[in-house]
Amino acid sequence: MKKIALISHDGKKAEMVSFILQNKSLVNGYELYATGTTGKHIENAGFEVHKLLSGPLGGDAQIATMVAEKNIDMIIFFRDPLDKHPHEPDVQMLMRLCDVHNIPLSTNPASAVLLLKGAKVQD
Ligand code: PGA
Repeated sequence: MKKIALISHDGKKAEMVSFILQNKSLVNGYELYATGTTGKHIENAGFEVHKLLSGPLGGDAQIATMVAEKNIDMIIFFRDPLDKHPHEPDVQMLMRLCDVHNIPLSTNPASAVLLLKGAKVQD
């Protein structure tokens, strides 16, 4: 089963939940991974999800490790560009490793839906 990692900064968690509810048919069939707090919200919305550490405590770094090991197929990361984050270095590391290992990364809902649809066409 292919794996997606879902991450959202605090200002974007509601957007992440409504995104996966709206795109349930595209998300179903993937094994879901998420940073801790994002994962709790996704779980409360009725999805099964593997929860990693919360982002500021190393969750983004854990997902970066999955990227480096090619153990994840896609990242959807709704960043909040209007806020500061103590773990910005981890965020940069994750995005850099996606480029190093050519792992699809989407940082907003408009591109995430295109990515999910594109992945479905490829299957
Ligand atoms: P969180 O982490 O889902 O645990 O809030 C996300 C992040 O801020 O990177």
